[in-house]
Amino acid sequence: MKQSHTLIPTLRETPADADIRSHQLLLKAGYIRQNASGVYSFMPLGKRVLQKVEAIVREEMDSAGAAEILMPALQQAELWQESGRWYTYGPELMRLKDRHEREFALGATHEEVITSLVRDEVKSYKRLPLTLYQIQTKFRDEKRPRFGLLRGREFIMKDAYSFHSTQESLDEIYQKLFEAYTNIFTRCGLDFRAVIADSGAMGGKDTHEFMVLSDVGEDTIAYSDTSNYAANIEMAPVIADYPKSEEEHNELQKVETRNQKTISDITSYLQVGADKCVKSLLFKVDEKYVLVLVRGDHEVNDIKVKNLFAATMVELAGLEETQALLSCPVGSLGPIGVQNVEVVADHAVKAIVNGVCGANEDHYHFVNVNPSRDFSVSQFADLRFIQEGDPSPDGEGTILFAKGIEVGHVFKLGTRYSEAMNASYLDANGRSQSMIMGCYGIGVSRTVAAVAEQFNDEKGLIWPANLAPYHLHLVAVNMKDENQSILSETLYKELQANRFEVLFDDRQERPGVKFADSELIGLPIRITVGKRSAEEIVEIKIRKTGETIEAHKDELIEIVTELLKSL
Ligand code: ATP
Ligand code: MG
Repeated sequence: MKQSHTLIPTLRETPADADIRSHQLLLKAGYIRQNASGVYSFMPLGKRVLQKVEAIVREEMDSAGAAEILMPALQQAELWQESGRWYTYGPELMRLKDRHEREFALGATHEEVITSLVRDEVKSYKRLPLTLYQIQTKFRDEKRPRFGLLRGREFIMKDAYSFHSTQESLDEIYQKLFEAYTNIFTRCGLDFRAVIADSGAMGGKDTHEFMVLSDVGEDTIAYSDTSNYAANIEMAPVIADYPKSEEEHNELQKVETRNQKTISDITSYLQVGADKCVKSLLFKVDEKYVLVLVRGDHEVNDIKVKNLFAATMVELAGLEETQALLSCPVGSLGPIGVQNVEVVADHAVKAIVNGVCGANEDHYHFVNVNPSRDFSVSQFADLRFIQEGDPSPDGEGTILFAKGIEVGHVFKLGTRYSEAMNASYLDANGRSQSMIMGCYGIGVSRTVAAVAEQFNDEKGLIWPANLAPYHLHLVAVNMKDENQSILSETLYKELQANRFEVLFDDRQERPGVKFADSELIGLPIRITVGKRSAEEIVEIKIRKTGETIEAHKDELIEIVTELLKSL
């Protein structure tokens, strides 16, 4: 492709509204343009990278036995009402009406559409298992669209769905797709980990997220320093063992703690460690209120609270609700004497001896609090976030944290959708059974950004050869120089004839601009046709290392073929 024929709108300045490298560079190098918040156009170079990622995804999905389809983005509300998600998905689902006032959603995901499709077309166990996938635009009205392609409101996803007659068959396909995902992200050159994303069964084999390790990631991964255990921090169970202190139980006392509200206020005011404090938080769990206790140096994990009560919604109670129920402000909450609200506590609280807690009275706390003696708890459970330094849940090593970008997600759905939407088949005995399902997503456009985030330097992007929009950047320093223009045109044709993907900078621009653009765009190899053109000698420059080699035109093909193998 000649640069004079395409559109690569590079920028000299870093866009002020982009605050991470991939977003800045994709804009600056002319790969993408923003239309609205979280809505982007892919420019010619961006589109080519996207296609390369899509090609890898297709190859791996096809070889895992999945068949590609394309479903509508425009989805009838009735389907979402059948599954119930019309009412629970919330404002992230983009909703609209047609001219007849009929309601629709723009697909945020396709469980409903695929379930209705398969329910209508598959009636017998003989047609199962079946795995279908698509690569398509999704719409989600994200609360905080940001970081360019990483969190868009319109983005490209590969979503796959599998249908089974037995759990074993689901397990088998899940494993196959897990391997396909591993291949996809490995081929994209990403530094990633598959992490457990479910608290359900210990070992949580029912859902995994594929996380690219990156400081700009919005998720935190808890991983073991010695084994291959890795989980989303939200999901990692805590198996810490809290040794019981031999300290004698002192007499409970109420002390004045004027204006001391937070755990750090209290620890310095009363000169105690945060591990001696009981932190009490009032939550609204579906329709009831629950006082949740954790140690002062721990944080409540609301997902664990939600799972404990099998609830659909958990949120912190507001100031007014707290005042109404426990007659005190938030900074003075405590479990002693509480009767109108259920109290649950994290296991660590049980081991506190002579601790401190709020007295449900402004400006007062209790000291010498001993849980077994001074208050009652309906249940002790694992309710806190895992922390660095905790033992790894698999029993091997210690937990460390890393940040991750979720690029993929594999999930065993079971019969959640097939039951709600009546997707059944006849088994070998002629009995009607609900189909067992799995779903598997990849953020294709997010993957492009994750690769850009991982492969760049201060001058611009540095694409791995298999994802680069073109393999070679042929740059003629001065197109007005006859030797240079003839040689570069000849090489352009020859390289293309040899099946290289070549971007040819044939523009009448200053050399400085051409070189800066070339670094920014970041193709693996630059071939510069410049001052030694009369001798048919060009310069080959490797973007990644900055290394340069001079080569005669006749040896060029052989050299770049070799070089590309390693890039
Ligand atoms: P997140 O926690 O990042 O919001 P999610 O759990 O909502 O992700 P899924 O519903 O599992 O995501 O969607 C499948 C994949 O689609 C994700 O693994 C991610 O790679 C991608 N994805 C999800 N939301 C977005 C978005 N707003 N922009 C770009 N990609 C996204
Ligand atoms: Mg989301």
